[in-house]
Amino acid sequence: MAFKKDDNFGEWYSEVVVNSEIIEYHDIPGCYILRPWVMEIWELLKEFFDAEIKKLKSKSYYFPLFVTENVVQKKKDHFESFAPEVAWVTKTGNSELEAPIAIRPTSETVMYPYFAKWIRSHRNLPLRCNQWCSVVRWECSNPIPLIRSREFLWQEGHTVFATKEESDEEVLHILELYRRIYEEFLAVPVSKGRKSEMEKFAGGLYTTSVEAFIPNTGRGIQAATSNCLGQNFAKMFEIFFEGENDPTQKKKNKKDKRSLVWQNSWAYTTRSIGVMVMTHGDDKGLVLPPRVAPIQVIVIPDPLLEDADTAAIKGVCETIVYTLNQAGIRADLDARENHAPEWKYSHWEMKGVPLRIEIDVKDLANKQVRVVRRDNGAKVDIPSTDLVEHVKVLLDGIQDSLFETAKQKRDACIEVVHTWDEFTAALNDKKLILAPWCEEEEVEKDVRARTEGDLGSAKTLCAPFDQPDLPEGTVCFASGKPAKTWSFWGRSY
Ligand code: AMP
Repeated sequence: MAFKKDDNFGEWYSEVVVNSEIIEYHDIPGCYILRPWVMEIWELLKEFFDAEIKKLKSKSYYFPLFVTENVVQKKKDHFESFAPEVAWVTKTGNSELEAPIAIRPTSETVMYPYFAKWIRSHRNLPLRCNQWCSVVRWECSNPIPLIRSREFLWQEGHTVFATKEESDEEVLHILELYRRIYEEFLAVPVSKGRKSEMEKFAGGLYTTSVEAFIPNTGRGIQAATSNCLGQNFAKMFEIFFEGENDPTQKKKNKKDKRSLVWQNSWAYTTRSIGVMVMTHGDDKGLVLPPRVAPIQVIVIPDPLLEDADTAAIKGVCETIVYTLNQAGIRADLDARENHAPEWKYSHWEMKGVPLRIEIDVKDLANKQVRVVRRDNGAKVDIPSTDLVEHVKVLLDGIQDSLFETAKQKRDACIEVVHTWDEFTAALNDKKLILAPWCEEEEVEKDVRARTEGDLGSAKTLCAPFDQPDLPEGTVCFASGKPAKTWSFWGRSY
């Protein structure tokens, strides 16, 4: 690696994602080729999440990539916030289209006209729809592979309920799944919380999110969002159901037995993998948490030149891989003869494989193998007979240790501030700021304006659900008005 994580984080990240064979740059800035090493991680995350939402009776759908101009015009409240990033198709072959067609930046406007058609009575509810697809947001600011790209992979869940209670409950259930993806799979600590009015999903009622933090740059990053859309989209798209009597529902008129539905939408993207790379990677390359590593153990034979036992070593390696695979461990053998063992060591270190098993003649004689951890370089010699148990323990240990280390680093960045001066000092120190806030939109706008600069302005990340005490008389760090909540603030990706 030419760049060091602590010296030049941006260049280090660009180098690590390419050298570890995660992505390749494409001719169009902001678009990237996702290679098998990242697709396999995405598939592991997908497997977990899909199984979880299917337990909630979510069904898979696929809606078209396109939105008609007509719908875009009608749903301005929602679409306007995406407008600068929407890509349009204006031509087919040599002829101009009569009306341009937008490419989905998100699919509310594509799906909800059909929800209006499909939902008639309370028997059609709840409707739970999820699609795995890509969306396009032609981001103008600096694109960063996986973190902020112009086309990205995601799942988008869209659900419809008869009552607000069901909708509220689901918002938190999904948010917990997102926390688990980050903390239990990617070993990245996140905070659950509620977004400010300025930062919430356009047109929604409220947005909850999990927020991660990158200590090297002192930036927060919105890791995933679970939105309660309330009845706003139901009004826009006229999604009604005829239900049993519900006194909480506002009817259009007394004779009208129809009620507006309640809706949620929720999404996480390939950004999650970018956050993991930033969190755990080091100067040797990627560091993968075992739960998402496509290969958890790489076995490398170390035959001495002309060694009569070369074939025996290879045979033992194959048996080890087979035994580990049988035990459900993702192990593979690198038996390529055109590369020296040292070359292979750095290759698999660059790709972040959690454990390396080395075997040479000495090990063969001693009926043992040498196991090397990617995260801390520790080496242990393990009797071949106990391998599976040892490897399982080591993999679990690496998973836990990566999370604990990342959490300690993140927690060390949290700074509680009470005044504007403390706030700006903490911002310059790249801290994750926790401050009492009056929750007024004007004040957030003002904080943004006052912190504007080359590095971007500060904004709210979320009001964490886990709130410290807010004693009577606590004032907002920025306005001096009575504080209503503790909120995380910082620069963000
Ligand atoms: P949204 O529909 O705006 O709530 O976005 C859902 C999630 O997508 C956000 O919480 C981000 O984690 C992620 N995201 C937003 N923009 C991008 C992007 N340009 N590239 C990758 N992920 C993104």
